[in-house]
Amino acid sequence: MADERDSGFVKEIRKQSADFPGWYTDVVRKAQLADYSPVRGCMVIRPYGYSLWENIRDPLDGLIKETGHENWYFPALIPLSFLMKEAEHVEGFQPEFAMVTRGGGKELEEPLVLRPTSETMIASVLRDYIQSYRDLPVLTNQWNNVFRWELRTRLFLRTLEFLWQEGHTFHETAAEAEEEVVRMLEQYRRIAEEWCAVPVLAGRKSDTEKFAGAQYSMSIEGMMVDGKALQMGTSHYFGDNFTRAYDLTFTGRTNERQYPYSTSWGVSTRMVGAVVMAHGDDSGLQLPPRIAPVQVIIIPIFRSDSERVQIDTALQQVLTDLEDIRVKVDWRDERPGFKFNEWELKGVPLRIEIGPRDLAKGEVTVVRRLNRAKQNVPLGDLGVTVPAMLEEIQAALFTRAREFREAHTVRLDSLEALVKFFDTSIGFVVTPWCGRTEDERTVKDRTTATTRVILGASGPAAQPCAICGRPASVEVAWGKAY
Ligand SMILES: [Zn+2]
Repeated sequence: MADERDSGFVKEIRKQSADFPGWYTDVVRKAQLADYSPVRGCMVIRPYGYSLWENIRDPLDGLIKETGHENWYFPALIPLSFLMKEAEHVEGFQPEFAMVTRGGGKELEEPLVLRPTSETMIASVLRDYIQSYRDLPVLTNQWNNVFRWELRTRLFLRTLEFLWQEGHTFHETAAEAEEEVVRMLEQYRRIAEEWCAVPVLAGRKSDTEKFAGAQYSMSIEGMMVDGKALQMGTSHYFGDNFTRAYDLTFTGRTNERQYPYSTSWGVSTRMVGAVVMAHGDDSGLQLPPRIAPVQVIIIPIFRSDSERVQIDTALQQVLTDLEDIRVKVDWRDERPGFKFNEWELKGVPLRIEIGPRDLAKGEVTVVRRLNRAKQNVPLGDLGVTVPAMLEEIQAALFTRAREFREAHTVRLDSLEALVKFFDTSIGFVVTPWCGRTEDERTVKDRTTATTRVILGASGPAAQPCAICGRPASVEVAWGKAY
C-alpha cells in the first residue's frame, strides 16, 4: 500500500449499486480495516479494523462471562487421530484441514492439524477433568484463531485463518444443554443488534445447513445492503455425539457411568464484514457509535498560527467535556475537504468542525455521517449533546437496517412465486415448509437460494408446504447467502 493520499483514494471506491463485491473490498482496504497478505487467503487486520473487532469482542466477552463461562486456552495443533473419531465431523471438515507433517527437521509420527474448531481437542482434554455429576456443568470459552483451507476467500467473510471465540460446554442433562444453546444464541443476537446495529433472524438451521457432528444448529442471520443473508453466529447442540466418540463419561447421581451432553457456539471476525455490508454506502463505512474506534472526529479549520492556537485552547475544554467519548482531533496538514472525505470513508459517526468564525460565536458545527445533517452546537453544550446524538445515531442505524430488511422480506406460498422472486429481486422469502431436504435441493437448483433459519412452527391450520404441497410443519426463511 503506497501512499494512498496521492491517488485520491475516496474516488476509487467502486459504486455499491454497480458492483457490490468490488465496493466491499474497496471499503475494507481503503478504510484500512484489513488488507491482503503475502499468504493466499490470509488477511492482515490493520489497527483500525482490529480496534473495531476489539469493540465487538470486549462486550461479547463480557456477555460470555456474565452467563457463567470461563476463558481457557487449548493447543492450536490437534493430532489427526483426535479429529478422525467423530465420523460426521471429520467428513465435514477434512477437505479444509491444514496439516503439519514435519517438525524439528523430521517427519512427525502423527500429523498435526491446525485447528479448524476445537470440539475434538476439548473433549479429549476434559475427559481428565470431568469425573462426577458434581463436576458439571463445565462452561468453557476460548478466543483464538482457526484455519480452514477455503478455496475462495474474501476479507473478513471467508479466509484461511480467522479470529473468533469458540464456547464449549458439558452438561448433566440434555435439557440443560439445550437451554445453553438458546442462551448463547441470545447473547449473539444482543451483540449483533445492540452493538453492531444489525437486526437478525434467529432460529434453527435445517439438517442440510447444520454443523458437521451436531444434532442441530441454530444461527443468527443478518441481511446485507445487497439483500443477501450473512450468517453471523452459530450455536450447536451435540447431544452426546462427541462425548460418546471421545468416551468422556461421568458418574451420575445413581452411580452409573453416563455421557454428558455438549454444545459449542462461535462468533468470528466475520461480524466486522457484517457491519461493513449492513451499514455502508458509496462514501464508505458507517459505524454504529457503540463499536466505532473513533466516535467523534474533530477537524480544526484555521489559516494562521494564531488561529490554530486559539482553536487548540478552546479544544482543551471540549476534550475534557468529552472524556468518556472516543474522540480524535485531526491536526494533519491536509485540506479540510480531504479530511471530511477520509473520516466519512472510515465511518466515524460524528464530525465536529471548529474554526475562528465558530469560535467567535462560541459554537461548533456538528455533522452526522448518517445523513450529513449539520447542526450548530454551543461549545459548552457538547458534553451533553454529543453523547445524546451518538445514542440517536446508534438507534437510527438499527431502525434503518430493520426497515430495509422488512422491505426486502416477502411471504410466499408457492415454488413458482419463490422462483420468480429470486429471478428479479433479492431478500428473504418466508414460506410454510415440510422440512424435507429434497425441497432445499429443488430451490437451490432453481434459484441458488438456501434455507437460512426456521422461524417457528407453522400456523395451527395445516398449511401446505410451498415447495412440494405436503403438509407444512414450519415457517422457514429462504435467502441467497454469503
Ligand atoms: Zn415440502
